[in-house]
This record gives sequence, C-alpha cells and structure tokens, in this order.
Amino acid sequence: MREGPVLLGRDRQRALLGLKYPSGDTLHGFSFGRSKGNEPANKPKDIFISPCRLKGYPPQMTNAQDSSPAGADLRARLEPPACPLCGEKQSRVLRETHDDWVPEGPTRGFRFSVVRCLSCRGCYTSPRFREEYKHTAFLGSYPFYQRARTPAGSLPSQSFKEAAVQPFLSRVASLTDAHPTPGRLLDLGMGDGVFLSLMQRKGWVVSGMDMEPDVVEYARANMDLQSCCAGDAERDPLPDGAFDAITLWGLLQLVYRPQSLLEKLRGSLVSGGVIGIGVSNFAGAGARLFGRHWRGLGLPRHLVHFEPDSLKRLVNGSGYEVLSLTFESPYWLIAESMRSVLPLPGILGGISRRSAAALLSAASTSSLGETMTVMARVRS
Ligand SMILES: [Zn+2]
Repeated sequence: MREGPVLLGRDRQRALLGLKYPSGDTLHGFSFGRSKGNEPANKPKDIFISPCRLKGYPPQMTNAQDSSPAGADLRARLEPPACPLCGEKQSRVLRETHDDWVPEGPTRGFRFSVVRCLSCRGCYTSPRFREEYKHTAFLGSYPFYQRARTPAGSLPSQSFKEAAVQPFLSRVASLTDAHPTPGRLLDLGMGDGVFLSLMQRKGWVVSGMDMEPDVVEYARANMDLQSCCAGDAERDPLPDGAFDAITLWGLLQLVYRPQSLLEKLRGSLVSGGVIGIGVSNFAGAGARLFGRHWRGLGLPRHLVHFEPDSLKRLVNGSGYEVLSLTFESPYWLIAESMRSVLPLPGILGGISRRSAAALLSAASTSSLGETMTVMARVRS
C-alpha cells in the first residue's frame, strides 16, 4: 500500500467516483491519495487507496445492518448529481467532510462535498446516493430515528421526552400563526410523530408519512397516530384527501427534486391551504463559523443546502406566496457542532458549548440563525 497526500476538492470527487480499487484492499474505511514521486508532467496522477486513519474509523464496521453495503458496493450506489434546483452541472466545492451524524454507519470512511452551482448559486451535496439507494444513508444510528429504534425499556426519562418536544414548539407556533383554526394536517417526513402528536392534541386531524416503516410503526403504537403510513413523498401517492396544511420539517433538504415535490403538494392542499418548511440555514452564523464541522450540513443525507434566497426563490417558483420566514438557533445544533470542532471533556466542554450557544443565539432573530422556517400559502 502506497501513501501520499490526500486529494482535495474536485480531484477527490473524481477519485471517489472513478477509482478502480486494487484487489484485496480493505474497503470499509479508506481515504484517497496520490503517489509521491517525480512523475512526468503529462502523466496522469496515480491515485490509490489507503486505509483511513481518521480517529473513530476502525477498519471493521461495528454497527452494520444486514443491508449495509461494503465499500465497493457503496461506491457504486453514488452519483455526481446536477444541481437539484436548476439542473446545471457546473459547480465549485465549498466544504468537504464525512458523515458525522452516523460515523459508525455504512458510509463510514467516505467523504462528501457541498458544492455551489455556478448557474443558480444554490448549494448541494456531491456525490450523493442514487435515488434507488437513498435508504442507505439512513441506516445505523441516524439520530432522528433513534427514539423509534431504541428498545422501550432503555428509553430514558421525562427530560428526554421534553427534549424531543422542544424542537417542535416553534413549529407548532408557526403553523398556528399561519392557520389559526385546526383543520386537516399532513406531515411528510414525520419521523417518530412528536410534531403530529402535539398538533393532534390541539385539535387537528392529523396524517403522516415517512419512508421508514419501522419508525411509522413506532408512531402508530406509541404516539396514538393511526392515520400514518410508510412511503416516499416524492415517488409514492400521498395520503388521500385535501389538507388545510402540509408540513415538511427537515424533509425538503433530503429530496431529489424539491420543486417537483412542492408542485405535487399543491394538488393535496385546499384553496388557501398553507405549507410549512423547515431546513438548515447554510448562510447562518454556525455554518460560517464551524465550517465542515457544522452539524447542519447533514452529509450525505442533506442533498440541498438552502440559504434564505434560494429557499424563497424555490417556494415562490413552485406556486406559493411566502407568508413568513423565521430563524432559530437550536442549542443542540450549536452544541453538537462545538463538540465536533473542539471536543473538550467535562466541565470545560460544557462551558465551551454553552458559550457558543449564547453567542450564536444572538443571531437567531436575524437571517444568520441556524435553521429557518418558511410558511407559505398556495397562490390562487
Ligand atoms: Zn443550480
């Protein structure tokens, strides 16, 4: 096994997609490099694989599930996408990092980039999973499915449940502001159903959809949500009925054709119906300060990295009138980013995370907040 400097940016992307692996190499964890030496200037660079030596990336998968592919299979499931917002193929690399939400999962050892489209200036992930394999990125300990996949006996306490509710309180308020009287609500990407449960208690008639059947089953059994189903919002028919509101908390940044999905949803909304969209803010203070350590990147699951302008443009262009655009700086997002960039133990770690959160929460009322929520109404 030869060693050399790690490839960066576009060279690394090219290597990730086009490399032929030497037979017999371990592919569970690796990085890409270029051989040392004095090659002639016109000779193609010799690209090779070396075992990944990043901390936390041992050579054996520790949490692989049955359908987890090994390295070579995983590479075949990736593609270099065109811009999901405009279809243009030219881009430049802005950030590059690994899957830090599920570091022990099936994408362990792979690196992904955030690139900016040279045409519409939107930002997106490259490479990404081919659509038929997108489930791969949600295997392992994906945190937003963790509650549903934790045996009930090991579920902690009331404080844990309160923590689960906390991120949705402002979304409940946003929807109530946009549609003060309860009606029919469809939540796409419902996860374990915490938001729907809150709205049901407020008198809404709720339906939900998520692509993970085990998570939907958990919501049915534990959250009193009978009208929910497993399905892919982009590819499958939506639940029947005309809804007064449709919400997508954290979903729009995961889809392959955002505009097509928003246009499809118009057909399931009543006249004057509202839509709520929550996404990470790639133009926020945390994204700038923490760089590749910012947990809002969500690579490789987040396929589009919205900024206020690109989000408003998309919503307007899909047949909606924007009612409000608000920002938040959730503590968990700042704390996890801080833990990644400066992993201090004990009291020092706690102080550093609380200080960063206090500093960045000042940006939450401006367009520099960590996450953003759009409420919009179908344009008649
Ligand atoms: Zn574009």
